[in-house]
Amino acid sequence: MRLLLAGISHESNTFAETPTDLDEFIANGFFRGAELLDLAGTNTVIGGAVGAARELGVELMPVVATSAIPGGVVADRVFESVVGAIETALAAERPDAIVLDLHGAMVTESHDDGDGALLERVRAAAGPEMPIVATLDLHANVGPQMLDNASVLIPFDTYPHVDNAERGDEAVRLAVRMASGAVTPVMTSRKLPILPDGPRQFSGVEPTNSIMGLVHEIETRPGVLTAGVCFAFPWADCPFAGMTVTVVTDNDPVLAEILVDEIATFIWARRAEFKTTLWTVEEAIHAAMQAPAGPVVLADLGDNPGGGTAADGTSILWGLIDLGAEGAVVSTIRDPEVVALAFEAGEGAEIETMLGAKTDERHGYPIPIKAVVKRLSNGDFVYEGPMERGVRDTLGRTAVLGIHGRYGADVEVIVCERRVQSLDTAILRSQGIEPTERKIIALKSAVHFRGAFMPIAAQILEVDTPGLTSLDYSRFPYQQLPRPIWPMDDM
Ligand SMILES: [Zn+2]
Repeated sequence: MRLLLAGISHESNTFAETPTDLDEFIANGFFRGAELLDLAGTNTVIGGAVGAARELGVELMPVVATSAIPGGVVADRVFESVVGAIETALAAERPDAIVLDLHGAMVTESHDDGDGALLERVRAAAGPEMPIVATLDLHANVGPQMLDNASVLIPFDTYPHVDNAERGDEAVRLAVRMASGAVTPVMTSRKLPILPDGPRQFSGVEPTNSIMGLVHEIETRPGVLTAGVCFAFPWADCPFAGMTVTVVTDNDPVLAEILVDEIATFIWARRAEFKTTLWTVEEAIHAAMQAPAGPVVLADLGDNPGGGTAADGTSILWGLIDLGAEGAVVSTIRDPEVVALAFEAGEGAEIETMLGAKTDERHGYPIPIKAVVKRLSNGDFVYEGPMERGVRDTLGRTAVLGIHGRYGADVEVIVCERRVQSLDTAILRSQGIEPTERKIIALKSAVHFRGAFMPIAAQILEVDTPGLTSLDYSRFPYQQLPRPIWPMDDM
């Protein structure tokens, strides 16, 4: 038995101005051939897939795997290089099945449904009978091309996403059973016109906890091979944005239809619970300053680089400085110009400049600062939280600035060169900042930070900030989004 393994994972924010090109994928890891096997043991789809294949004694044809930080649409040449590599491999040698690690919310320069276009090309090269099992992120916008060309789609079950390797493992085991003729999967799906607020997609809260509980219970019923829910990626202007339920049975289309309806009806009935109460910047900072104990985490919902934002939004920083917050730290603001200035000035020097909001007009305004350069580094760190524990990453060159706020208070800001979601306490600790000793921690992350920060946070406040991941969808010039859709429309 031989299994082709490949993948490209990108969440494309179609409102971001800069396309995501090859350099962004290379910076994040562009693995070819046998390099994929080195991912064994990591909490990635490829890592889980390699592990399962070894356990089952299945031969792998590892082709290519890459991903990039969410951002603007993917350049065509990246798409072509991945699809081309898979087509070349298929022409050279025929596998018994194909496992693909996809995101499901990739838009390319030429394709609204990048994942669907990829699946269509792979299907054409592999033929109609070949089992193709693809994993998806929980935030996929599942389009018709994906459903028509994949045999089975397996979305992540968790947010924060901690089941990546588990899904890779599941995909390989199902592909092997299909290839050996042990099962004949039939996949059914239902689209739900819902864009659920990110914070309520957290696996630990309602309604998501109950929704996934039902999905897991259904997966244990006789005849069911797998089931899943994609919660959508709202910042992609595409005609198939919205939630999707998938159910895969063993050759029982009637059962699949019944069960997909059961899950979809359950979600629709509970959609109102997805609505989050957000704090204004002013309310959140006052509440944090008055809190009896810290750390109070302020989640910068509008500027989450994990959803493709500029990561240079300033609105929370502005409030902290202006209100004279004590013991506050902002993680992070991307501003290569200010980093360069800090490196020129050196540790201990004072700089005066404009910080942040330089990428576009959507993330607040550059703010004038007077600051001490407290620390300079290359920004390297190793994740320590549950999501990517052990994985190396870098903020690029990084400066910790102590900004003089009002009433003599100092606000610390981690200013860096790269857009990195602040989902891990290691980002602060690598910069000499012990998060448990800070009263207020502002993070550029929507939900993923909960894995590492919930154990230390006294309180978490979700803040309504401007940016490319704002939950106020009226800020975005949608043209293709299917309407009506909840909560934009009264349904
Ligand atoms: Zn996701």
